[in-house]
Amino acid sequence: MTTPCIICVAITGSLPTKADNPAVPTAVSEQIESTHEAFEAGATIMHAHVRNDDETPSSDPDKFALLKEGVEKHCPGMIIQLSTGGRSGAGKTRGGMLPLRPDMASLSVGSNNFPTRVYENPPDLVAWLASEMKTYDIKPEIEAFDLSHIFRAAAMYEAGEIAETPYVQFVMGVKNAMPVDREVFDFYIHTVKRLFGEDAPWCAAGIGPNQIVLNEWAISSGGHARTGLEDNIRLDRNTLAPSNAALVKRAVELCEKYERPVATWQQAREMLGLREVA
Ligand SMILES: [Zn+2]
Repeated sequence: MTTPCIICVAITGSLPTKADNPAVPTAVSEQIESTHEAFEAGATIMHAHVRNDDETPSSDPDKFALLKEGVEKHCPGMIIQLSTGGRSGAGKTRGGMLPLRPDMASLSVGSNNFPTRVYENPPDLVAWLASEMKTYDIKPEIEAFDLSHIFRAAAMYEAGEIAETPYVQFVMGVKNAMPVDREVFDFYIHTVKRLFGEDAPWCAAGIGPNQIVLNEWAISSGGHARTGLEDNIRLDRNTLAPSNAALVKRAVELCEKYERPVATWQQAREMLGLREVA
């Protein structure tokens, strides 16, 4: 049987606002509802940031706690992945929610440029975030904005700083970072297999109009797919995505096209080696 495809929905992010697309969920109650729709559409991982009441990024652990509680109640079994990304706070505040023990958390292991700034991930902060994830039994998802980040993850795994085989996500199409390039993408896959084994799961995310491109490349190459309004707010140039679920449905359709079953939450948890549902 072909490997089931895990669909991750990145529901909010720290950039898009309701002015960009009214469907972007920014209040916790909206986030829970949007996640529920996406879960019913086939997503099994939810990746989340939280926002302040004025939609600016927040790293408030209390908001993350409310979101986690709501998703656990309304989407039983769904994998909860909280962002420790650098747009939501500075320094150790980025990991302030890790004591909540989500199933997963994103982990950037190196720095690079973003559209208007440096995406700063200094080695001491990366080491601290990784050690907190180990302490609280949280599986990191390694955000690979560059080839060197995959090697950094391997070195951290070798050193015991990451407990299990790293789950790497290739991120392509962020302005000033790695563009969407098929040869690099194929080399990323080759590198993950070489460093972590032929069966090591990996996933990919594309930004803006490249979301669907990376979904197609990943699904047709045996990887897992990330979608959602964090990375892309449109269905096409002229149409705003009406919901996170609508973007999940596009990924599900690609799974059908390439004869990949969509992973259930049980299959996703097993493939990623996550702990049992509490
Ligand atoms: Zn994010």
